[in-house]
Amino acid sequence: MKILIADDDPVSRFLMQRTLQKFDYEVVVAEDGGKAAEILLNSDGPRLALIDWMMPELDGLGVCRKVRQHQDDTSYVYIILLTSRQDSSDIVAGLEAGADDYITKPCQPAELKARLHTGQRILSLERRLVEAREEMRFKATHDALTTLWNRAAILSLVQGEFRRSLRSRNPTSLLLCDIDHFKRINDNHGHLTGDAVLQAVAKVLISSVRAYDAVGRYGGEEFLILLSDCEGAGLAARCEHIRATIASTLIQVGAESLSITISIGAVTYEGFSDTAPEHFIAQADEALYRAKAEGRNRTVLACPSSEGEVESPHSTLWPSQSHAYDHSAPISIQTS
Ligand SMILES: [Mg+2]
Repeated sequence: MKILIADDDPVSRFLMQRTLQKFDYEVVVAEDGGKAAEILLNSDGPRLALIDWMMPELDGLGVCRKVRQHQDDTSYVYIILLTSRQDSSDIVAGLEAGADDYITKPCQPAELKARLHTGQRILSLERRLVEAREEMRFKATHDALTTLWNRAAILSLVQGEFRRSLRSRNPTSLLLCDIDHFKRINDNHGHLTGDAVLQAVAKVLISSVRAYDAVGRYGGEEFLILLSDCEGAGLAARCEHIRATIASTLIQVGAESLSITISIGAVTYEGFSDTAPEHFIAQADEALYRAKAEGRNRTVLACPSSEGEVESPHSTLWPSQSHAYDHSAPISIQTS
């Protein structure tokens, strides 16, 4: 385990370093308080520290305060103050500045070892708590089967992205993707196969988007994809890529290999009016409905329009932009 020693006295620093190395610690040294704080505030810096109280410029108490002030950004640092002070008021001051423990100089190796073990115990407890919290956060925002964002989380991401679009005027596109004839898969192959298909589709969807896009499980076999800064011909190409990738992927479940297809309804929000995301999701849903009605395994792009508004001039770009796209692919533009 890594440990930091901060001491302005080279001899004490060297002796302490030797002792800690004998205890099997990986030792990092700092000769002043400023450097110590900087090392400890680094996200991969040591989480255990022995800090001398008396140092020029930033003393041990200053290091404790600085580290505690920025505690939210890094995981917990367990700080032991090294001091020759024995006064109860000094000890109180040290603990109040944020030290977890103190040890008086000159320190006995056995006592030092025991106090460091206490620190390690606290740090491992803290690590387990953080892991448990992260796991809970993950479970609250992700779909258990596919590990994609769950419905509430993807809708909240859509809301945030729409607010960003409204500020920046950068287009955001929504795709509703639905697995074709999913009921048949469940009926003919069983629900376990159905689950495996959902997981396989989720995997393809995730690998088909950029790191800053988002994919969520919207409902049963329906997925909602949020593509930022994407519209027009670019959107048509992205949808078509996703559709074609799914259609050409053989899903292996046990001894069976299944070939499935999806239908996609897509819409773009251009950030010109403060319209509720639900309105655009409903438009994507209508487009998806049309993709299903027109024979499935295809994409339908809805023309963007704001609620109760005449279509903005920008939306007229859509058909002409998509003419540049290869129409042998099953894409259609919803104009109504
Ligand atoms: Mg000193």
